[in-house]
Amino acid sequence: MTVAEQAFEMAFKSAEEIVGACTVEKSYDCGVCETSFKARVSRSTKLRFSSTDADLHPNFNPMDPMLYDVIICPHCGYASMTMYWNKLTELQIKSLNEIFEISKNPPMFGKVVGFREAMEKYKRALLSSVVKGAKHSEQGYVCLKLAWLNRLVNNNRGYILFISKALRHLEKAYTQENFPICTMDEPTLGYLLAYCNYYLYHYDEALRWLGKILPTAELPQRLRDKALDLKESIKAHQAEESAGKGDIDKQLMDEFEKVKGSERDMIDEIIL
Ligand SMILES: [Zn+2]
Repeated sequence: MTVAEQAFEMAFKSAEEIVGACTVEKSYDCGVCETSFKARVSRSTKLRFSSTDADLHPNFNPMDPMLYDVIICPHCGYASMTMYWNKLTELQIKSLNEIFEISKNPPMFGKVVGFREAMEKYKRALLSSVVKGAKHSEQGYVCLKLAWLNRLVNNNRGYILFISKALRHLEKAYTQENFPICTMDEPTLGYLLAYCNYYLYHYDEALRWLGKILPTAELPQRLRDKALDLKESIKAHQAEESAGKGDIDKQLMDEFEKVKGSERDMIDEIIL
């Protein structure tokens, strides 16, 4: 065995151990095809929260629980995040049955789920949420997780795509649904919407959201600090833009907007 192979085996073994300690198999009943199966989900008591990123992705040690937050029925392929599992109406079940009649053979995943495998699971959950006509909050939350996963594997195109989809859904959820939305209270979601707009270069809109949440008296200090940092970043970018300095990500964003006929449509097709 080469040194590289030994290193891979050791890394894999430790990943297996971590997953063994931090996840557990639970029984689930599928509301669509009415069969029972087991799925692996994370054990929150075994995870230590460390920090929250600017886009509100929470970091945990020793593993990221979002890798195990989508359940896929191995029989019919229906998938959803754990918090939305089995909250199905008769009409939704009918729609899901119709679509999954023609697209069975869901992908199977092993015990250790990596970021790219997790993306496949979330895409399946997104497909299910679209087919069942889920609320904007559910569709937006799945898109947000897909955005986080893309960022964590340094796929900026994927990040932009899913941040813009999450923004579209979560803005609607903010005005149409009751809080908490996707586990967030009103100022937290307001901050997230500001951040998504900022990332997509909608600076005025981002500032409008920050203006809405910053005067909130009971805003937690951590969120206030994040909102003030974001406001500073926006002001700095606006100053750069007015000084005519190009930004590499802005170029990528422009390029991304142009490729509507090729990759973007392809990605949309795969997902939707
Ligand atoms: Zn099923």
